[in-house]
Amino acid sequence: MNRVLTFFLGRRSDWHLTAPRISAPTLSLHWLGPLAMVVSVIASWFAFTGTAGLDQASTFSMWFGASSILLMAWSFILALRVSFLERFWGGLDSMYRGHRWAGALAIPAMFMHTSIEPAVKGAQLIAGANANVADAAEELAETGELMLYGLIGISLLRLIPYRWWKWTHKLFGIPFAFASWHFYTAQKPYDNASGWGMWFAGFMLAGLIAWIARVVVRDAVAQGSSYTVVDAQHVGSLTRIELAPDGRSSLDFDPGQFAFLRFGAKGMREPHPFSIASGPSSKNLTFYIRHLGDWSDRLPDTDLLGTTVRVEAPYGEFTPISRHHTDTVWIAGGVGITPFLASLDELTTANVRPTVLYACKTDDGDPLVELLRIADEEGKIRLHLYTNGSRLTPDALDDLFPHGMSDCHVALCGPAGLVKDMASASNERGARSVETEDFDIRQGFGPDRSREIDAATRKVIEARSNPVTAH
Ligand SMILES: Cc1cc2nc3c(=O)[nH]c(=O)nc-3n(C[C@H](O)[C@H](O)[C@H](O)COP(=O)(O)OP(=O)(O)OC[C@H]3O[C@@H](n4cnc5c(N)ncnc54)[C@H](O)[C@@H]3O)c2cc1C
Repeated sequence: MNRVLTFFLGRRSDWHLTAPRISAPTLSLHWLGPLAMVVSVIASWFAFTGTAGLDQASTFSMWFGASSILLMAWSFILALRVSFLERFWGGLDSMYRGHRWAGALAIPAMFMHTSIEPAVKGAQLIAGANANVADAAEELAETGELMLYGLIGISLLRLIPYRWWKWTHKLFGIPFAFASWHFYTAQKPYDNASGWGMWFAGFMLAGLIAWIARVVVRDAVAQGSSYTVVDAQHVGSLTRIELAPDGRSSLDFDPGQFAFLRFGAKGMREPHPFSIASGPSSKNLTFYIRHLGDWSDRLPDTDLLGTTVRVEAPYGEFTPISRHHTDTVWIAGGVGITPFLASLDELTTANVRPTVLYACKTDDGDPLVELLRIADEEGKIRLHLYTNGSRLTPDALDDLFPHGMSDCHVALCGPAGLVKDMASASNERGARSVETEDFDIRQGFGPDRSREIDAATRKVIEARSNPVTAH
């Protein structure tokens, strides 16, 4: 019994939502996106204040409802992966963090809106539509509210395997559409044709367009440029693939950026994000993919050579190289080294020789370790390996930087625990330029049991469809 509870409940630390990481109070464009989101919600308060006959509680109720809709709209806009917006958020991983926080905060706002019954009698409100339409819209919104609670529960719990989670995630537009229609038709202090009416209608429309564009256009139609697999090698739990562009032009990207790959092979069509490991000057793109789950585990058994791959790229604001600091430090664990690999060819021209702290389970024949060793021998990097039982801990920074890290640019990628510990340790030792890359776009609450649950359901499905071999 205890083991079952531990399986589903995990540890206390599993239930912490990852807070947005604010490493240094430096003014940058990256603040504009989050600031715009917060300001849009706060400013909306003024659409509901000062209305004759409307008490404070009702004003709050209306504002909470409006805030919930604004936050959902932001959440859809951020999920659209518009690369132009990355500069205002500090990369796609930060945009996804904004997407998750906006979506999660829309729920308590919605709850507060429905919990505080507005006393609208006698207040000077303007109808958004005739009473019958408004009542029907309100009923729809109530259904949408329940749907929203269910979907957000599924979304936040990491127990649900990614491929199911992904489909439920696409349904969020339905409660949003219901809530927006209710908001538009309900009685409010302003007219729908007024400035405030346009403001909210603009957000609702942008949210709906973003949702449709994401679910229909992005997922089904515009799937990225066409490439072909020209090389595929499997070494242990790692696959290296090389893609050649089908058109003449090559991808324009910066080292540290990543791409969503959608393989044409059967059962492999789901898009997955991977860091580009080849340098920007090479026409072909190289990726290193660790077999970590149901999709990547199938790579070695798939005939990849000659397969068409749709590449949606480039994304990300992760910059491993900085010319503005005396020292560059790369800290990586496992497959988290991949966003650094594209920089290896650029180091000599950039006149940068990073100190690389790399942790991996074993270095035995690992192609990633091999690449780093070669770069070390060529004098491009200073490699410090933590492998075969030797652990990378913050103490390593004291040995390597006895005078502190105030002049270091530190870039980190790898397991969440390692990145968090080493980023804080770098900050504590004076580093101000610290940036991280998240390999987990989904995140959420609770223990991640999705792989075990996924494997168990696959077994059940196989046993049902093939009872003879299953026994
Ligand atoms: C910016 C970025 C760069 C990455 N670069 C690399 C790399 O160079 N090499 C590498 O091996 N891995 C990389 N990853 C991780 C890689 O995307 C996941 O390991 C892979 O998608 C796992 O898929 P799976 O179905 O095999 O595993 P699963 O067990 O199904 O998924 C494990 C976790 O991976 C994430 N994930 C799964 N499917 C998707 C998907 N379709 N889209 C987004 N996230 C998903 C989810 O958080 C999920 O919980 C990167 C991830 C990100 C976000």
